[in-house]
Amino acid sequence: MQTTGQQPSHRSQDFAIPRERMAERLRDHYHIKDLKVLEAMRAVPRHAFVPEALQSRAYGDHALPISGSQTISQPYIVARMTELLELKQESRVLEIGAGSGYQTAVLAKIAGQVYSIERIADLARQAQGRIRQLGIYNATVKCFDGTLGWATHAPYDGILVAAGGPSVPEPLVAQLRIGGRLVVPIGATRESQRLIRVIKTATGSTQEDHGACAFVPLIGQHGWTS
Ligand code: SAH
Repeated sequence: MQTTGQQPSHRSQDFAIPRERMAERLRDHYHIKDLKVLEAMRAVPRHAFVPEALQSRAYGDHALPISGSQTISQPYIVARMTELLELKQESRVLEIGAGSGYQTAVLAKIAGQVYSIERIADLARQAQGRIRQLGIYNATVKCFDGTLGWATHAPYDGILVAAGGPSVPEPLVAQLRIGGRLVVPIGATRESQRLIRVIKTATGSTQEDHGACAFVPLIGQHGWTS
């Protein structure tokens, strides 16, 4: 079939083969086991969330720069954090740090409703636009300080923080339902961050350490000042 006119490269090339290789690597090398997560990683076109010049590298085993000096996380980190949330079809999820909107789209493929917060207005607008363009209607991106959470839609079954803070932001724990999971990178420096999972219990919360990670800073009232 012949096409006329110019199309954006993410439309004319769907990168199905590198996307499938990425999913195989997540399963075989990184031991991602949740089939819903692997399916979502296969379904979401990651190249549609990176700058045009980097599209051919979108499925590589690395983070990539987006605008505003921010990054789109490495596929493994996206998959691992999603898996740690243990989402179901009816889950309600809060995300802090929408960035490109890629992680938001992955969450929306699995969960019932995704609320995402991004502190940089341009990124929030672009992320929402990309998600709608892909026909995803169960995710909303807003611009404000995500360390305060989003009380209107609480309690959440899962909260994912895609930027690293000095300590677990208390409003986020408060907005989890009992049994709900919060996944957040915590550390005094970017080099010393650990991926922490907080599970809310009837009497308080438990914390698990899921290893080293490196995220851009979480900036806000319950994060870093700059
Ligand atoms: N998961 C994203 C990557 C996010 S990078 C993706 O898939 O593309 C981290 C993002 O967190 C950045 O865009 C940064 O602006 C945002 N951020 C940092 N502090 C924040 C805060 N307090 N509230 C909301 N977003 C914040």
